[in-house]
Amino acid sequence: MKITVIGSGHLGAPHAAGMADIGHDVVGVDTDLAKVAALNAGRGWFHEPGLDDLLTRNIGTGRLRFTTDLTDAAAHGEVHFLAVGTPSGPDGSYDLSQLTAAVSALAPHLHRPCLIVGKSTVSPGTARAVEALVRRLAPAGDAVEVAWNPEFLREGTAVADTLTPDRIVIGVSSAEAEKSLRALYAPIIKSHGCPLVVTDLATAEMVKATANAYLATRISFINAVAEMSAAIGADVTDLVEAIGYDTRIGHHYLQPGLGFGGGCLPKDLHAFTHQADSTGSTEAAALLRAVDTVNRHRRHLAVELARTVLDGTLAGRRVAVWGAAFKAGVDDVRDSPGLDVAVRLHQAGAQVAVYDPQGMAQARHTAPALSYAPTAADAAQDADLVLVTTGWPEFRSLDPYAIGDRTAVRRLIDTQGVIVAARWRAAGWTVTDISYRPASRPAQRGPSRQLV
Ligand code: NAD
Repeated sequence: MKITVIGSGHLGAPHAAGMADIGHDVVGVDTDLAKVAALNAGRGWFHEPGLDDLLTRNIGTGRLRFTTDLTDAAAHGEVHFLAVGTPSGPDGSYDLSQLTAAVSALAPHLHRPCLIVGKSTVSPGTARAVEALVRRLAPAGDAVEVAWNPEFLREGTAVADTLTPDRIVIGVSSAEAEKSLRALYAPIIKSHGCPLVVTDLATAEMVKATANAYLATRISFINAVAEMSAAIGADVTDLVEAIGYDTRIGHHYLQPGLGFGGGCLPKDLHAFTHQADSTGSTEAAALLRAVDTVNRHRRHLAVELARTVLDGTLAGRRVAVWGAAFKAGVDDVRDSPGLDVAVRLHQAGAQVAVYDPQGMAQARHTAPALSYAPTAADAAQDADLVLVTTGWPEFRSLDPYAIGDRTAVRRLIDTQGVIVAARWRAAGWTVTDISYRPASRPAQRGPSRQLV
């Protein structure tokens, strides 16, 4: 099928390349010429494992190209995916300006029947608003139909998630739209029996926000329990192991840490809360607000833990922050808990040196007031404290003796359970896990299972 994907970012670029990979003829669109140039050269403009290979392979077949020219794209596509950003607006609802701009720019070029498929995460009602806008502006009028197809890919595994998703959800208002989308995704559905859930528009729009709100709730729940455990001297790692064997609970996505961040979970939670408020679902809004409060509190807790281990004073103390990306495997620093903690420490007067294996350029752009070091060891130079804020596996293999030779004091806080604490303690380090209060954990028990 002839497809366009409008918005070539973390969602749109893997989707465009993935659709070409399953045999479609794809034009990706973006307003940013530099991004388009990079993508046409087979390079993602952000770090995503496997994306460059997927781009190169499909550009090579002639089935994939990127452009800034919407006229060209409109003439090409029988299905137009919308994959532009929907960041948080000032009141927590989605800022739909990118979406409105993209649709307003596309619609006047639609002269024949086609299907517009929203992939961006939005609140219920947006698809109908897009439909009204497009039918007003498109010469083809009612012959343009709108469907919604929320995306569940995770940064860091976006390529696999695009080619082998665990489900495809399509919200449609006609049998023709369903037929088109079934045909479009047929290679994926056939190749690994991926379930296809067909819903109405509003349900499809709500599925994504619901999934992310649930994941956020799960993370905040275990972080709240971690804090309770620390207060009473219980071991949260054993606790997670014990409850996770219940098949209704499971072990995954249940690791206490610095909380969630990134370009999706926080803003989707805020928009869901806004939606609960605006529909009068007071209890739902209160629940969602609590999830957010617990999440933000973890960042505060990390700063206070740093202050505690530094004997109550942050001003003038040198802190190495290892990790700026919102999670390991990506360079995305949008609403990154680690970078936020680094900024808070800086604002409290600490001299902060940040290192991240991939996220340095984006972090520098987002938080220019911080200092950045080219390696983890350089960040640790003369440090009074090393604070691990992103769970990069490479931090696990660092040599605690060599790093210790660089620091002023061998003192480390791990917020991610990534450090093998026994190794570092054997090298003379004081290691504190954010999920325990240092004083409440019996010394003879050593590090948690997660840490060793
Ligand atoms: P992004 O910022 O990485 O990408 C958006 C792209 O759209 C940018 O490249 C931008 O230049 C481009 N753009 C903006 N206005 C445009 C216009 N008028 N025409 C063409 N291009 C335009 O954002 P993202 O992370 O890819 O998120 C996009 C949507 O996908 C959001 O709604 C997000 O919630 C959703 N989503 C993201 C992920 C993820 O992991 N990032 C996962 C699922 C869903």
